[in-house]
Order: sequence, then C-alpha cells, then structure tokens
Amino acid sequence: MFVTKRVQSARILNQVTVFIRKIHSFDSKGKVLQVKINGEQLKFPYVWLRDNCQCDQCFHKSAKSRILDWSKFNINVKPKEVVETSDSMKVEWTDGHISQYGMNWLKYRNFSPEHQQQYKQAIFKPGKITWNGHQFEEICSRHDYNEVLHSDKALHDWLHKLAQYGVALIKNTPNSETAIDAVVDRVGFTKRTHYGIKFIVQNVENTSNVAYLSSNLQMHTDLPYYEYCPGTNLLHCLVQTKSTGGENLLSDCHYVAHYMKQNHPEEYRLLTEVEVEWSDIGVEHGNEFFKLHRGPVICINKLGEITRINFSIPQRGSHFPGQLEIVEPWYKAHGLFLELNHRCAAKFKTTDGDILTFDNIRLLHGRNAYEDNNNNVRKLIGAYMDWDEIYSRLRCLKVKLEKLDGIY
Ligand SMILES: [Zn+2]
Repeated sequence: MFVTKRVQSARILNQVTVFIRKIHSFDSKGKVLQVKINGEQLKFPYVWLRDNCQCDQCFHKSAKSRILDWSKFNINVKPKEVVETSDSMKVEWTDGHISQYGMNWLKYRNFSPEHQQQYKQAIFKPGKITWNGHQFEEICSRHDYNEVLHSDKALHDWLHKLAQYGVALIKNTPNSETAIDAVVDRVGFTKRTHYGIKFIVQNVENTSNVAYLSSNLQMHTDLPYYEYCPGTNLLHCLVQTKSTGGENLLSDCHYVAHYMKQNHPEEYRLLTEVEVEWSDIGVEHGNEFFKLHRGPVICINKLGEITRINFSIPQRGSHFPGQLEIVEPWYKAHGLFLELNHRCAAKFKTTDGDILTFDNIRLLHGRNAYEDNNNNVRKLIGAYMDWDEIYSRLRCLKVKLEKLDGIY
C-alpha cells in the first residue's frame, strides 16, 4: 500500500471542510488509492481512476462516454495530491493532469465483492428466482394493462417480475389486435422475425409453423434457430377456446437444470456441452427462409450461470454436428430434460384480455390440444421483445423512480 500522511491539512473553504493528502511513496504492488466514504474504506486502482477521469477533456458529459486519448495514456500513472470534500475528490497526477470525481459516483464503483454483487442485482440484472409448477399461483404476478401504460412504477414492477421469475400476466387488455403495441411502445420495440413484427396464433391448415395448429403443441422455446434469439414472448389472448383443452404449459428450465446438475450430473453435462443444430426452413409472407443455429440445450457462461435454453422438437434439425458415440447418451439426456420439464410445468388457461409475457430463453411453453367451432375461434396476437430493451427500460425506470445519483 502507499504511505501517506493521512491528513496533510484540513481547512474550511466556503463552509466545506477540505482534506488534502500528499501521496509520498508507493508500494509497487499496491497501486491503489484508499478513500473513506460514509465511514467505509474504499479502494480504487490508480490506473482505473485515471482512465475514468470525469473532467471535460477525458469524459464527454452529454454522451456519457470516455473521450481521453488512449494512445497517450500512461498505465503507470500515479497521484501526487488528493483533495477531498464531503461530496467530491480531486486528484492531481504526476503528469500534472487534474481529475475530479463525485463521491456518490465513486461509491457506485466500489470494488468490494459485496458491493459488486449488490450492483449486479440492483442495476445490471435482477437475480432470477426459480420455481416449480406447483408454485405458479404465488410467483406469477398480475398487472393491469392501463396501469402499465400510464404508471412508471407499474411498468417497472411488471418488467422486474418478468426478469425475476421469467413470467408475468397483464390483465384487462382491450379486445383489439393492436392493443399489444402500446405495451411494447412502453418498453422499446419488438424483435422482428420472419413471422413478422407481430404474429397471429390461430389454427391454420397447411401452415408454415406447427404452432398454428390446434393439436398438442409440445413444450419448446421459440426460434432456437436464431443466433440472436428473441428474449421474451408476449401473447395477447383475444379469444380463448371454450372447448376443453387449450391450456398453457409453462416450466422454468432454470429450476429443472439446477435439479439435473445435482441429481443427474452426466446428463446435465451433455446438455450443456453437446451442440445440436436448430433449424427452420420455409416460406412466410412470400419470403423464403433457411435458418440454422448451433448450440447446446442449456447454454452456460464461465460462471456456470445459464444464459439461454434452446429446446424445440419440431425445430431441431436432423443434422447432428456431434460425434457418433455421443448421440445416444445425448438423446437420453434430452428425454430426461423433457420429462422433468413436464413434471415441473404449471398448467393454466389464459382468459380473453390477458397478455401472457414470459422469458423465451428460460421457460419452455406449450399448449394442450383444443377444438375450434364456428362461433369460437381461438386467437392470440404475439410479439417478441429482446432482453436488451427490457433491461435497458428497467434501469432507466429505476434511476428515475429511486432518484439515483452517480449511477452513470
Ligand atoms: Zn481528465
């Protein structure tokens, strides 16, 4: 660590107490500045402080972007003098440059593991809470269409629950094919695919997609054959079938994956490591498409966190990119995954005016068979939205609602 006279001097300037520290010598290993904020000792590497200088030459305030010239950057830069007030800190560097930082700004960039975890949950992405089907009534929150449209808090609450549990219901939606647009507009925009900006889910003979049939729709994720797969699915139920059947099935694959990791580690490993090919080939709105994507069923990052689930029996291609020996064990693991998802699935039926919103890269969804008649034709309007747009809206709302200062 560095050696410093803790407080070189303290004086009152315009009613504000100013502390000045002269930095005299350093330990070459610990190139870290310690700053006391609200009684807590925070540490910031010199190189990081200099890189994140907030002065007008180094940081563009309205673009909220770094503009310092890195070709002239000295990675071994050291502070010469540090001046602290209760709400800001000024650092003079050995090259003569002077940097200024807000204490709140510094506080939000605390390097301690506890703080980093807290920031990850509060600002980066809300933590996910896994669930089993029998808990569905407790975890599936209900939100009012008009409140989501007119209240920032209601909008935030819906998106926050959707991020945490991967599912939430919007109730009381007007009976119109365009009603879903206003909800999407509150967040950002839809993800357009070859099925359109929005799509109608209705029984269609000779369809380009098995979702447009009234028979059983096996549990799946939508569009796993997209490299940039839609993050969420919004399904507005305009007309629900009055026949038996037509129930939605939803299961939390994160719950199932954790269970498999504990109880069936080899099958879990196969589903996280073996890449298979997902495909969709056809013509829609006059456009030919031939989509392919390769990826495992359970995609995990280097921390072991699940980033995406791919699962669709109709849209798993017949080209198996893996080795011969892996095929049979993989099929067994695949079968177990589906069986566990069935066992852990929630079964319920949306009613007219519901928008079922769910995480398409976390949950499997399906639907039981139903029968239309001339007076009752089941009809849903669907749209996709990406998580980038949702997380972005969530962060903007949080900063606004909680009046957070120093977050960016
Ligand atoms: Zn600067």
